[in-house]
Amino acid sequence: MIPFNVPPFLGTEMDYIKEAVQAQKICGDGQFTKYCNQWIEEKTGTAKALLTTSCTHSLEMAALLLEIKPGDEVIMPSFTFVSTADAFVLRGAKIVFVDIRPDTMNIDEKLIEDAITDKTKAIVPVHYAGVGCEMDTILEIAKRHNLKVVEDAAQGVMGEYKGQALGAIGDYGCYSFHETKNYSMGEGGALLIKDPAQIENAEIIREKGTNRSVFLRGQIDKYTWVNHGSSYLPSDMNAAYLWAQLQEADMINNNRLATWDKYYKAFEGIENDGYVQRPVIPAECRHNAHMFYLKARNIEERTRLISFLKQNGILAVFHYIPLHNAPAGKRFGEFHGEDKFTTKESERLLRLPMYYNLTDADSDKVIEKVIEFYKG
Ligand SMILES: *Cc1c(COP(=O)(O)O)cnc(C)c1O
Repeated sequence: MIPFNVPPFLGTEMDYIKEAVQAQKICGDGQFTKYCNQWIEEKTGTAKALLTTSCTHSLEMAALLLEIKPGDEVIMPSFTFVSTADAFVLRGAKIVFVDIRPDTMNIDEKLIEDAITDKTKAIVPVHYAGVGCEMDTILEIAKRHNLKVVEDAAQGVMGEYKGQALGAIGDYGCYSFHETKNYSMGEGGALLIKDPAQIENAEIIREKGTNRSVFLRGQIDKYTWVNHGSSYLPSDMNAAYLWAQLQEADMINNNRLATWDKYYKAFEGIENDGYVQRPVIPAECRHNAHMFYLKARNIEERTRLISFLKQNGILAVFHYIPLHNAPAGKRFGEFHGEDKFTTKESERLLRLPMYYNLTDADSDKVIEKVIEFYKG
């Protein structure tokens, strides 16, 4: 079987984990966490990056920092992972879902303004497949209506929009380092903070509501409970695994992009014949080959293609069931306007095997079998 995903592994992870263990510093905020935070800050230009236990938790931290309260409304696409919504639902917010653009599968920036009410507090764009949303328009709307922007950049590490790093464009950016993402620490993530005035508050929320970070820097002589918070910092052993990968981020990125480009070229013919559609990358975006998807003509054809590939030893998958159709989505949210593309486009999409070091032989086989399905 050609798996759908293989977690990235270079070999150096073991050396760094050993180093973390030998330093007898395996709790949070050890040296590897600092290296990773610094790497993200230098790479993205954000004022502050803090490793977290997951992208879900980064989103929760953003919701806490924005002081989201019951009755507040938050605008986001319905075509996303549950965590995008759940982090705000936990604070009592109502989720207002807006339709996506059929080209990028990202929130349709032209539909956002109509969904804003006097209860709206934030817009949460999701950079699907590491392809940036139309951020200039989104930031301009947010500014005009005095709203905050939280980027769900779980899939966006190393992606860019108009030369800016995804995750470092809005007020807060949330990265995922789950094993299914481009760079991994098993479970983990990061919160990117744009406004330096929010850094200390973020550190407090991440450290159980205490000012322990200030204490550890020697700026106060005792630390105490100063706000609500939780435990959002990962073990330094996990950070050690991630550090090995961030050091080689360009190499990993190039390797994934090569597979992505190969798929893209190979499926040009079946796109021209009208069988499938390939991903669209707007000119202002640099993607990171987080995923390669095709869109079949309809759900029935997609189901047949997935099972044909499976019979031939290839695991292809689909996602997401739009959140507004899920039981919790109905309870906590509402779709604003017409669902023109969210359901229809999500039902056609399937993801092909895509991971660091996918072999040429395996990508050849995937290509051959997809084309065989259509052309016999
Ligand atoms: C993976 C993912 C998340 C959740 O990331 P975790 O690190 O597993 O919490 C959130 N949003 C999107 C769009 C994702 O793809």
